[in-house]
Amino acid sequence: MEKEQIEKLKKAGDIAKKVKVFAREIICKDIPLLEIAEKIDAKILELGGKPAFPINLSINEIAAHSTPSHNDDQKAHGLLKIDIGVHIDGFVADTAFSLDLENNEENKQLIEAAESALESGIKATDYHTELREIGKAIENTIKSRGFQPIINLSGHSIDQYDLHSGITIPNYDNLKEYNLEEGVYAIEPFSTSGHGKVRDGKPSGIYHLEPGSGQVRDPFAREVLNYIKEKYQTLPFCSRWLVKKLSTRALIALKRLEEANIIHQYLQLVEINRKPVAQAEHTLVLTKNEKIVTT
Ligand code: MN
Ligand code: MN
Repeated sequence: MEKEQIEKLKKAGDIAKKVKVFAREIICKDIPLLEIAEKIDAKILELGGKPAFPINLSINEIAAHSTPSHNDDQKAHGLLKIDIGVHIDGFVADTAFSLDLENNEENKQLIEAAESALESGIKATDYHTELREIGKAIENTIKSRGFQPIINLSGHSIDQYDLHSGITIPNYDNLKEYNLEEGVYAIEPFSTSGHGKVRDGKPSGIYHLEPGSGQVRDPFAREVLNYIKEKYQTLPFCSRWLVKKLSTRALIALKRLEEANIIHQYLQLVEINRKPVAQAEHTLVLTKNEKIVTT
């Protein structure tokens, strides 16, 4: 990895750290999720970064892939996961934490389990570590606290403008013998009092451009597509951002683009027993001699 790339990764990480501090300051029970999202979007820009994906604000049994719509009326409550992405020229910092907004003992323990599993996962990670060893460290930490890791959610490698670039960092011992190379990795354990798996839920309003995308006839949909390509490239984006820029007409264009398989919409991910989920996440830059936690 080149020095300049590492500098951009570090800068994105620094911004993400500051945004997390800001998020902890503003988030309280009953604040509208839309207000949190808009304030955080603005903060990232103010600090000189760009959102690498729409902030995920996922409550209780929703583990991930939930972001406010342009007219969202939900309020913060329960066990809230805040997952933030920042990029500088496509070099990404991906980081998450959870908040208990109910003063609930189990929520607090779930959060501690996820945080502590993240710490064990990072500790287990080095150049040439076997992936399963990281998974094992995460799994053992969460299980020792009486909870389950979510086994069908995982950390991931990150490339420039590519949030999930192919390698999966498991949250359990998946028996895979694969040694980590140099690169950028997100480690993100999820703990739950449920079964430890997620299933697809409702559409999220979060999308990404499909590779090798085709064209649409509708001129406005084409305009929206060009805007998406220019503005987000291959990183995820959301309907809220497009409505803000292009009015609610953008929603029809998104539907057309989705029907034409030019963009793909993520579904919310829900714990199969509908039990609460906590998450913690950091991004790491791994070289032969260095392990830098950027976030
Ligand atoms: Mn994340
Ligand atoms: Mn991630």
